[in-house]
Amino acid sequence: MQCAEDGCDRPAAVRVHDPRGRDRDVCLPHGRSLAQQPGVVAAPIEDADAEWP
Ligand SMILES: [Zn+2]
Repeated sequence: MQCAEDGCDRPAAVRVHDPRGRDRDVCLPHGRSLAQQPGVVAAPIEDADAEWP
């Protein structure tokens, strides 16, 4: 599984629930950056390889 952000080929590790867009699976850096926005919730994907810090 790959990060859903355009131009990013890191493995997806976080599921982002975005009130202004569709839910998507993204890599850790993108998940952390998206989670800074109000209303966005990022949750670790259970079976992902990467660890949630
Ligand atoms: Zn990414």
